Order: sequence, then structure tokens, then C-alpha cells
Amino acid sequence: VKPTRLLCFCSDRLEFTQLAADHRAVNLGQGFPDFSPPTFIQEALREALSGGYQMHQYTRVFGHPPLVRILAKFFGRIVGREIDPFEDVLVTAGAYQALFCAFQALIEEGDEVILVEPFFDCYQPMVELAGGKTVHVSLRPSQKVEGSGVPSSGDWVLSPEELASKFNPRTKAIVINTPNNPLGKVYKTEELQVIADLCVRHDVLCISDEVYEWLTYDGNKHVKIASLPGMWERTVTIGSAGKTFSATGWKLGWAISSVHNMKNLKIIHLGSVYQCPTATQEAVARGFEREYELFGTPESYFQQLPAMLHQKREKLASCLGAAGLQPVMPEGGYFMIVDLSDQSTEDEPKDFTFVKWLTKEKGLATMPVSTFYSPEHRREFSQYVRFCFVKEDSTLNAAEDILRKWS
Ligand code: PMP
Ligand code: GLN
Repeated sequence: VKPTRLLCFCSDRLEFTQLAADHRAVNLGQGFPDFSPPTFIQEALREALSGGYQMHQYTRVFGHPPLVRILAKFFGRIVGREIDPFEDVLVTAGAYQALFCAFQALIEEGDEVILVEPFFDCYQPMVELAGGKTVHVSLRPSQKVEGSGVPSSGDWVLSPEELASKFNPRTKAIVINTPNNPLGKVYKTEELQVIADLCVRHDVLCISDEVYEWLTYDGNKHVKIASLPGMWERTVTIGSAGKTFSATGWKLGWAISSVHNMKNLKIIHLGSVYQCPTATQEAVARGFEREYELFGTPESYFQQLPAMLHQKREKLASCLGAAGLQPVMPEGGYFMIVDLSDQSTEDEPKDFTFVKWLTKEKGLATMPVSTFYSPEHRREFSQYVRFCFVKEDSTLNAAEDILRKWS
């Protein structure tokens, strides 16, 4: 039963990824850069691999000491508190395993977990696998005055009343993702404060997936919910080295939280993966040490990457616009969604039909947005398709050729 439950969610992602490969399509579907990570991180890995024998052997189970130390120092400066590297930090096999550990460790049979839709598709099956019940609340586009500018992910908001109505004595946790996949929404402090107030009032945990934390555009600022009053003790903050250094294949991530929560996450990590590769941890540690020194300067990769992606976002938005497709401008992250309301309808959800047609007939792969919703809300949000813009300009140009010919 458990594998079937997991597969019924994850099979959509597998199907669309396979479809892109089968048709050798220009791939704006799956979220990964089709360019190399920055030279400094590649060199850090090379140096680590040519270091002593220790780099090829096991390291500390809960995280390589240099990595947990710099993660604690780096994020301690951001949240403005002392983070204990050996108590409060757990290094995992990607943010994915950090999510898995968090759900397994914190959710008991029958607990309710609030998911904000659209959500990264593994949240629901992972919560259910842990015995929890998911409760859904959707971000919805607020009504804009006709002609009042380009649609933005910032227009998608939660109703504070609807959100409050989802909290009850069975609620154990809420999961948020900022910047959001697939929408690109970057939550503002006021929006996070509404969530934080509810968490504090109802004694609820917050699992905050912040894998795209460095990728914000147009002056939008990423805010960590753990930095709001009363939230440090009740938040598990999750990050990804893959997203941070454009090296998704390294599959290294982390969870940062207070001692009480962390003990249980560590036990799940111990009982499943045990520990992560030493050399990649060493390289990521060196990358963060570099970024610690350069933080806020133009040489910082955390400045350069969003600047580069901002240009790619503009490029993709303009070619989608030229093809008659209406993008929702993302404030952050890897992705841009497009509204298909004007396209024809079929029996299947509109986005599924469109994505299959675009991949098979036109050779351009994308991802249907309804896969980021719970089954009961999929139909309601099936008019959007997700495009990934973290791609070489040559890939975006190839996509543009396809879109222009078709329109
Ligand atoms: N959370 C979100 C929102 C994601 O988009 C992804 C996919 N990259 C992950 C977590 C998993 O990250 P990782 O590759 O580090 O496991
Ligand atoms: N996060 C990326 C996406 O949403 C890739 C995750 C994956 O395919 N495992 O496309």
C-alpha cells in the first residue's frame, strides 16, 4: 500500500520527465540547470577529491564537521541567533531527504498537516507515509483591475480567514515553500507573520522549504520564517546545496532546527541513509566559506546567480508573450507558470493535454501545474503549465524558435 500511495503522486513527474526524454524535447520541464556549477565549487570538489584518504571515507553521521560548522555560522548570521552546529544542523541526501526525515520524525498517526497549494509534489505522499492527514489551503490569484499590469506571483495570496479555519487541535504542522515551486511566489514578512501567529497560537510546527532562497528578483527579499518571534523553536528550515550552487546532481541538503525537533530527525536519518558523501560535503563547506566572506558583494554567487536568472526570466517571458501565452511573472525561484485559459478544452485536465501535445508534436517539454495540487483541487487549477528558465540561452533560444513557429 505504501509504495502505491507514493507512486500515484510521483508517477506524474516520472511520466513527464520520461516523455521529454523519449521525444528528445527541448527541456523546460524538470527543474535543473543545464549549465555547469560555478568554477569555485567545481574546484573545491576537485581539491577535496585529491585530498587525503579521509575524503574518501566515512565522515560524521549527522554532517561533515566543516559543513555543519559553516552552515551554523552562515545561517546564524542571517537569523540573528547562535546555531549549534552539532545539535541544530543535519546534513541530508538533498532537501528531499530532509523533508522525508522531518515528516517521519515529527508526524504521528492521525496528525493533520496543512499544505499550501500549489506544493512540491512529494509533500502529500511523504506526510501520508508518516501516517499524517494533509489539509489543503490554496494560494489564489487576487482579482486585479483590468489592465493593471503584468500578472505576478505576488498576486497569489492566502486568505487569512481560510488559513485560520484549517488550524485545529489535531494540527501538527504547516509546510511552506518560499520562493515557491512552481509559482515563484516569495512570501512577504506580513504574509509570514500571519502564518507565524497561527503557529504560535495553536502550538503548531512549521516545515519551511527554502531551497530557492537565493533566487529572488525585482528587489523581492527572501525572509526566513524561523527569524520571526516565537518561530525559531517551532520551525524546521530546509535547504539544498544543489539549488544553492547549481549542482542538483550532488544531492546534498540540510535541515536546521532547534534541539528538541532535531533529535528525532537525526534518528530517522540514522535509520535510513546513515550519512552523506564526504567529498561533496567538504566542497559545499568550502563554497559556503567563500560565500560567507563575499556575502552581499557583487562577487558573491548568491548575487550573480539571481542576476543571471533574472535575464533568463525576462527572455522566457518575452518569447511566451510573443507566442500568445500569458506568463505569471515569478518573484523568485526556477519556474514561471503560464495561464492556458484561452486554449481549447479536452476531457483530460487542460494542462496535461497541452504539455503532452507540446512535447510530442512540437518538441518542447514543460510540466503541468495541476500535479502540484491535491487530487481534489487538480481540476480547479488545471489551466496552468510550468516552464523552467534555469537553462542555457541556447536552450531558451531553441524553445523560443518552437514557440514562435507555433504561434
Ligand atoms: N523542495 C523543492 C521546492 C524543490 O523544488 C526541490 C527539487 N529540487 C526539492 C525540495 C528537493 O531538492 P534536492 O534536489 O536538494 O533534494
Ligand atoms: N524540483 C525540481 C522540479 O520541480 C526537480 C525535482 C525532481 O525531479 N526530483 O522539477
